[in-house]
Amino acid sequence: MRVVRSNADLHVILSEAKGSLGFVPTMGALHQGHISLVEKAKQDCDQICVSIFVNPLQFGPNEDFSKYPRTIDADLELLDKAGVDLVYLPDVADIYPETISSSGSVTTNTRINTETELEKIHANPELANTLCGLNRPGHFDGVCTVVKRLFDIVKPQRAYFGEKDYQQLMIIREMVDRLKIPVEIIGCPILREADGLAMSSRNRYLSEDERKLAPEIYRVILSLAKDPSINAAQKLESLGFSLDYLEQRWNRLFVAARLGSTRLIDNIAPSC
Ligand code: AMP
Repeated sequence: MRVVRSNADLHVILSEAKGSLGFVPTMGALHQGHISLVEKAKQDCDQICVSIFVNPLQFGPNEDFSKYPRTIDADLELLDKAGVDLVYLPDVADIYPETISSSGSVTTNTRINTETELEKIHANPELANTLCGLNRPGHFDGVCTVVKRLFDIVKPQRAYFGEKDYQQLMIIREMVDRLKIPVEIIGCPILREADGLAMSSRNRYLSEDERKLAPEIYRVILSLAKDPSINAAQKLESLGFSLDYLEQRWNRLFVAARLGSTRLIDNIAPSC
């Protein structure tokens, strides 16, 4: 497995690589959910590239950018075991070269703005102005910006995204379509812990008690899918969750809720 930090080194390696390239963008703190994307990519592609980049643009001012878990040694070990060919570990300056200030903060002038460049996303208010789009203003602009940059740099034939972030997957599909980016987007199912909790880098923020409670978020949406008459929101609130949303959309149930300061999201297709 090759590990590259600079765009120059990446370009040399990519220019020598043969066959189709599958790409898995991540923010690190890797778990088996990420590895399931790698496994799927390995079925489809000759070479696999994984990026690890905690993207400052997709975090709001009161969100967890600075304390987002960074576990690079363990990440590299997992990726090596999973048979990844190439790991790309860019700096902010590699991704946003023209926007980095002397203080290290990223200015906003090169953000992809989902309101203008991706007019159709906003023309479809269901896509960007609902769920996490409402609860995390600017989040999807930041996600689209980094994913577009990463696609420009890595130029993969296929890219793999988890249904864990289902709205993100839909928005990226729309962006790729609108901007005619020549990449195939592959959605992959949610990987869960044995007790049903969707795997997430943020699960490690949970205290022992919160971790015991966290799978309720999945159990409650499963119950709601079976019996739409139950008051699932009230059930979650009574257990100690603070709800951001619980909604049916695109024929799926979506939930975002906080346990303490940890924000958890999940979604299921009603047939589950
Ligand atoms: P992140 O590092 O959180 O940005 O996630 C990187 C990719 O892994 C995204 O496409 C996520 O949707 C995907 N992912 C994260 N958790 C899971 C999971 N539990 N199952 C499947 N995919 C996941």
